[in-house]
Formats: sequence, C-alpha cells, structure tokens
Amino acid sequence: MQKEDNLKDIISHAKEYGFVFPSSEIYDGLSATYDYGQLGAELKNNIKSYWWKSMVQMHENILGIDSAIFMHPTTWKASGHVDAFNDPLIDNKDSKKRYRADVLIEEHIEKIRSKIDKDVKKGIKRFGDTFDKEQFLATNPNVLRNQAKINDIEQRMRETLGKENLEGVYNLIMDLDISCPISGTKNWTEVRQFNLMFSTELGSVSGDASKIYLRPETAQGIFVNYLNVQKTGRMKIPFGIAQIGKAFRNEIVARQFIFRMREFEQMEMQFFVRPGEEMKWYDYWKEQRIKWHKKLGLGEQNYRFHDHIKLAHYANAAADIEFNFPMGFKELEGIHSRTDFDLKQHEAHSGKKLQYFDPEINENYVPYVVETSIGLDRMFLAVLSSSFKNEDLGDGKTRAVLSIPPALAPYKVAVMPLTKKDGLPEKAREIMNTLKLNHNCAFDEKDSPGKRYRRQDAIGTPYCVMVDHQTMEDETVTIRDRDTMEQDRVKISELANIIDGKVSMTNLLT
Ligand code: ATP
Repeated sequence: MQKEDNLKDIISHAKEYGFVFPSSEIYDGLSATYDYGQLGAELKNNIKSYWWKSMVQMHENILGIDSAIFMHPTTWKASGHVDAFNDPLIDNKDSKKRYRADVLIEEHIEKIRSKIDKDVKKGIKRFGDTFDKEQFLATNPNVLRNQAKINDIEQRMRETLGKENLEGVYNLIMDLDISCPISGTKNWTEVRQFNLMFSTELGSVSGDASKIYLRPETAQGIFVNYLNVQKTGRMKIPFGIAQIGKAFRNEIVARQFIFRMREFEQMEMQFFVRPGEEMKWYDYWKEQRIKWHKKLGLGEQNYRFHDHIKLAHYANAAADIEFNFPMGFKELEGIHSRTDFDLKQHEAHSGKKLQYFDPEINENYVPYVVETSIGLDRMFLAVLSSSFKNEDLGDGKTRAVLSIPPALAPYKVAVMPLTKKDGLPEKAREIMNTLKLNHNCAFDEKDSPGKRYRRQDAIGTPYCVMVDHQTMEDETVTIRDRDTMEQDRVKISELANIIDGKVSMTNLLT
C-alpha cells in the first residue's frame, strides 16, 4: 500500500469508528478543522496522561499549570510574535495555490535525499552483509554530488530565510527550478511574510486598544507565571513548568488531516536552568524525550532527529524529533534552547524583575530555558497511523486492527457474554462492574463472537473477556489477546490482576 493511500484509509477508519470527525460536517465541514469522537477523546486523554505523568508526576522538580488562552496583548509584543511570527508565503499564479516558501525548498531537499537513500538501498542489495554504509556515503560519487547539492541549498537557506531576505528566497526557488505540484508551472509571485496569529477583540469596544490574540503557543503562559510558580512551589533551579492546552495559528496551508490544523493542542514544558548550563540540559531533554517516544513501541526506525537550519528568533539551538508519518518523516516534537530571551523581554516590557536568586552561587540572574514542545494531535496521528494494519489471516480473510499500545487504548477490555441467555449477560455485567473501577471497559453482546472480536480489534481494545457456560460452573472466563488472537482460560478472581499488569501505564513510566 502506498503511504499516501494509507493516510486516506486511516482518515476513513478514524471516522467510521468514532475517533475523528470532520468539524461541523452537516455544513460540509470547515477546512482543516476536526472533532475528536468518543474513542478519539479517550485516546487523546490517555496520551495526555502519559505525557503529564512522565513529566510532572515522575519529576519532583517539574510542576504543571493551566494558564488562560487569552493573555495581555503586550505578552505577544514582548515574545516577538507580533513582529516576527511569520511564515514566508508564495502563490502560484496559474493554480492560484498558496505555499510556504520554506516548505517548497525543504521538499526539494527531501527529493535529493531520497536519491541518496535509493543509492544506499542499491548498495545493500549488491553487497549484502559486506556493505559498509559509512564508507559508501563518504566515497560514492553520486552520493557526494547529491550531498553537495543539499549542503549548498541549506547554506543558501541560512543566508536568505535566516536573514529575512525574501528576494533571496524567491531566487532560490527559481534557481532550483521548483514548480507548482498542481499546475506544473514556475509562474510564482514574490515571497511575502504572513503573520500566523489570530486576533479578536476584547469586550464591546473595537479598535487597536482592545485587540487581543488567541495564543499561538502555550509557552508564554508559563513564562509570565514563572516567578509565581517558583515562589509558591518553593522551587530551586533547575526546575520545570509543564502545561497542556490549545494553541491557534493561522497556517498558510493547513492540510494532511490532523497533522497541521489552525486550532490544535500542545504539551509543553519549560525547564529553567542556570545560564551557561543550557546545552547540558538541551542534550538531557533530547535524550529523555526520544526515550519517552520509543517506550511506546511504535517502531524505533520511525524516529529521527533533525537539527534546525533556521533558528527561531529566540533560540540558540533547536532540534525536532521527526516521525515517519504516512506522508513521510515530519516534525512531531521540538526541543529548543530558548536562552533568556523570553524572560528578559518580559522584564523589559512589564518593568517587573523576573530574576532568580541562586543560593548556591549567591547570584541573581534571569534563568535560561530549555523547552520540549510536542503537538498532541500529531502524537495522536503518530499512534493511529503506526498502529493501523490490515492483516492477512490466510484463506482470503483479513482483519483491520489497531495495535495501539495497551496503556493508550480507548477501551482496555471488552466484556462479552457468549449468548444473551442463561444468565450469561448478568454474569458478564457483574465482571464488568468490577473491572470498570480501574479501566474503561466496553460491553458487547450483539452479533457472533467472531464479529465482536473483529469490532474490538478495529478500535484497538487489547483484551476481550468472554463469559460462557463454563463460567457459570467454575468461575473462569476466556481472555483473548488482540495482537496474538490467542485465548486463555483464567479465573475471574485473577482477571483484574492480569489486565492491570498488561495495560497499566506503569509499564511505560519505569
Ligand atoms: P511546523 O514547522 O510543522 O510548522 P513548528 O516548528 O512551527 O511546526 P513549534 O512552534 O515548534 O512548531 O510547535 C511545537 C509543536 O506543536 C510542533 O512540534 C507540532 O507537533 C505542534 N504543532 C505546531 N503547529 C501545529 C499545527 N498547525 N497543527 C498541529 N500541530 C502543530
């Protein structure tokens, strides 16, 4: 199956089973806006809980907050978002389609990179076990030529995008012969800057004085509260503040399902450190965050780091954790060393001191900040897309299965009476009533057992418990594993322990 086809299948599966619906669908939807359905909301909550527990619960020196979406407008002047939170846009005059100029260039680089990957694959095929990838990359003339092209483009990106030289960006697009994927022409407009913040008005008076913004990141709510939390939480540096919440960006091109939306959710943590120690913590958080991802078992080969070429106005180092989405490797999380930029700016604009007295070195200073910032919706897509499979069961039979990590699955267990009579439904409910104290459970008594198992596979329920006639005689049930499809007979009294052991989030946190 092609990867892009795979995305279409995932979108329709997500809709069919109540994970994600197009927003306001009865009015034909609103572009790039989605609603999470009954199972989507559960999965989303479980991802949030995994992040919150591993950040806040597992770290004595990280506290969680929940700040407002609206903030004093000067916040965004201070943070640089009013003046510099722009994306360079370019239009194709023939297709009338709008693109992000930097994305067009990055996609061009990706094409060259895939040529290198192809050459590597050919080498592996030809030389088998004796193939030395490092040496091949360092000596093969084709690879060297393509790598030199990439280096050259990246260098020009630094010189143009990095310095807001929009004419230079336009020239680069023309020199690289980049054409519009829709019209196929190179009939481009000039490159312009576009501010991504949504604004609205506070109260009933209109005009500039009452203009406020929908926050484009959750981070600023943390910065302005940093001293409140430090003082009331009696925190010593290094310490962190975490929060999960909505963010809004008027993206030039919002597409690829929930990957890029105009309203989305972020899980961010700002870690306040002593100046000069930020690189140590930057490396530390890069390592911690990739560990968090890999623990889920979505496939180690699906992650890679990407160092930023164009650093944001506040950063002195930045890397993305990219995930192999159905559209290829794309940013899932960012780890940024933000220096003391934000706090210093807030000091300057508010006139309030935001310094910390460090008793260990007897000094006052504005802390440096290392942040980890992950998109909840992108994480949702990473889990959904890597879990979705159409498995061939032989004899022309297939099953759609979501092998979601058990701790994140919407339902942990489905309880089913084999038939609707002989007291089996009542017994099944009795079992479910105990299990539901700890886990989200489904009750399913309609259709044949085979059909019910398929339904639970399709929504990712890790375990199905079947109550049959033997249950009434010896207090045992069968428990079926979603991934192996194997069934074991176990005592009802052991059920809670068995399920806890398999689906508990503790497995991910240790
Ligand atoms: P991109 O380069 O893809 O636009 P970004 O570098 O601007 O992303 P950050 O500002 O670092 O993103 O935001 C942190 C995280 O928030 C990203 O890693 C991503 O997971 C998420 N995110 C950012 N923009 C969106 C969006 N429009 N829709 C969904 N998630 C988003």
